[in-house]
Amino acid sequence: MERTLSIIKPDGVGRNLIGDVIKRLEQNGLKVAAMKMIWMTKAQAQGFYAVHEGKPFFDGLTDFMCSGPIVVMVVQGENVIEQYRKLMGDTNFEDAEEGTIRREFATSTRKNVVHGSDSTESAALEIGYFFNRFEIVG
Ligand code: UDP
Ligand code: MG
Repeated sequence: MERTLSIIKPDGVGRNLIGDVIKRLEQNGLKVAAMKMIWMTKAQAQGFYAVHEGKPFFDGLTDFMCSGPIVVMVVQGENVIEQYRKLMGDTNFEDAEEGTIRREFATSTRKNVVHGSDSTESAALEIGYFFNRFEIVG
């Protein structure tokens, strides 16, 4: 059983899409193993996206990620890292497949509603960024 970190970004929370995102996970056999709502500081957003430091979109992305509350979740299931990335769709919603979360709900490359870890290494790092082992109960 594998775990990934999922985030419903400020645009998703602000547009009342929490239920839609969780519904898609659950309908695809994935389980929420931990969940909380937080509002990151700029420094926390910069730390979370440290891999993108120096890129042209880094400052706009980290401003966006601390512009409102987010929902962070540990999601669990077989092959969940890849499966959840598929459910999210491409980073750029215009390239995302029909029926994916981003294709359906994203409004720009930045405001694309959800985050999902992209490898076992990043999943472990990202889960540890927000949750300790006592908070993961699934
Ligand atoms: N992003 C952006 N401009 C870009 C590329 C990415 O604002 O040109 C934002 C977008 O919100 C994306 C996040 O930065 O989800 C992280 O980028 P990454 O390439 O890791 O995409 P993801 O893994 O989220 O699909
Ligand atoms: Mg990424």
